[in-house]
Amino acid sequence: MNPSPRDLCHNLNVENGHLTFAGQDTVALAARFGTPLYLMDEDTIRRNCRQYTEGFARLFPAGSLVLYASKAASFTKLCRIIQTEGLGLDVVSMGEIYTACKAGFPMEKVYFHSNHKTQADIQFALEKGVGCLVADNEEELLCLQAEAAKRNRRQKVLLRITPGIDPHTYAAVATGQVDSKFGLPIETGQAEAFLALALQQPNLFVAGLHCHVGSQVFTEDVFERSAAVMLAFMADMREKLGFVCEELDLGGGYGTRYVHSDPEVNIPEKLSSLAAVITAECRRLRLPLPRVLLEPGRSIVADAGLTLYTVGSVKQIPGYRTYVSVDGGMTDNPRYALYGSRYTCYIANKMDEPRDMPCALVGRCCESGDVIQPQAALPASTGRGDLAAVCTTGAYNYSMASNYNRLPRPPVVLLQGGTARIAVRRETLEDIVALDV
Ligand SMILES: *Cc1c(COP(=O)(O)O)cnc(C)c1O
Repeated sequence: MNPSPRDLCHNLNVENGHLTFAGQDTVALAARFGTPLYLMDEDTIRRNCRQYTEGFARLFPAGSLVLYASKAASFTKLCRIIQTEGLGLDVVSMGEIYTACKAGFPMEKVYFHSNHKTQADIQFALEKGVGCLVADNEEELLCLQAEAAKRNRRQKVLLRITPGIDPHTYAAVATGQVDSKFGLPIETGQAEAFLALALQQPNLFVAGLHCHVGSQVFTEDVFERSAAVMLAFMADMREKLGFVCEELDLGGGYGTRYVHSDPEVNIPEKLSSLAAVITAECRRLRLPLPRVLLEPGRSIVADAGLTLYTVGSVKQIPGYRTYVSVDGGMTDNPRYALYGSRYTCYIANKMDEPRDMPCALVGRCCESGDVIQPQAALPASTGRGDLAAVCTTGAYNYSMASNYNRLPRPPVVLLQGGTARIAVRRETLEDIVALDV
């Protein structure tokens, strides 16, 4: 009925009735840093990175690279952790490029995505020496060619292709199907025309192809199937256009466990089966093995995060529901509002009490949709001043946070080996009016 936090994730535990995270007492951390509070567990970030880098070293050709998808969470201290683990970076905006620059990240390992790059974005990326731009469409490709020509440089690019695969995840995070705002589909012939055009551009070097089928993917063989489709396309294009694809970037998307009933995704096993398919298909199609790239975001940081809130009012509507409100909400975690995402919630200072009260954990924003979790189970004694913990919030929480209702955004505190240091400070009321003129 009440499986233990430790079963959800290795970095959660209970000591003296308190929830611990990364070996530290969350009640003490809340008292020290205030709430709402984002915690990030550095050892788990590094451990997640290593699952990928060790698998890559074992399974893929030299020069293959794991790119961390910045959009899951981006701040300078995190960029430095990613850098020391030897990963590259996937960025989608000037802000993410600038963050990487500020962190001293090696720009040749930065790949710039996005279905809409403004001219200013492209100029900024070239100025900062971004290693590779992932062109989304023909119009953008020509803009890139013009900017590279102005600088008299040959810019490395990948082309974003949609392989026509439905990852069976939430519609809002499925991106690999033909009907998508991202990339150009193989099925309609547009991918081939895109590649032919790219190969004619004197200032662009087409190193390879990119696809990304979706996020929070649990379906068994989505990556294997998209790899097979992409390799078949590569073989076809070698025949038709003489194109040799050096790099195959299969995007991000491996799922993370948010609730006890979610499956566990074994990354080393996933990488092995992906490598087996790539090797077998390349042999069958007589293709040289490309360098392989993946772009995990969620599976690097999600389980490295935890959010703490202070409980306010608890309101019972007889015959309906009990509402437990907290001092944050959709401003720091919009994922239930956006995708109906599930989360595991606890009262961190009452871990020895049974979680026998079904309730909705709701935020403080002026929106009925401001719900963190509609069907939480918390102790019946839950009330004002208790500490609510929402697990697995490391991905797409801080990076999606807003100032709706003029709420200041929480700080991010990095935990490592018994220490806790602020990586992003709490916004103040002065920050809230700082841009007003
Ligand atoms: C969102 C995204 C990723 C990361 O996806 P995760 O599900 O967080 O692993 C990687 N690449 C691209 C192009 C994306 O859009």
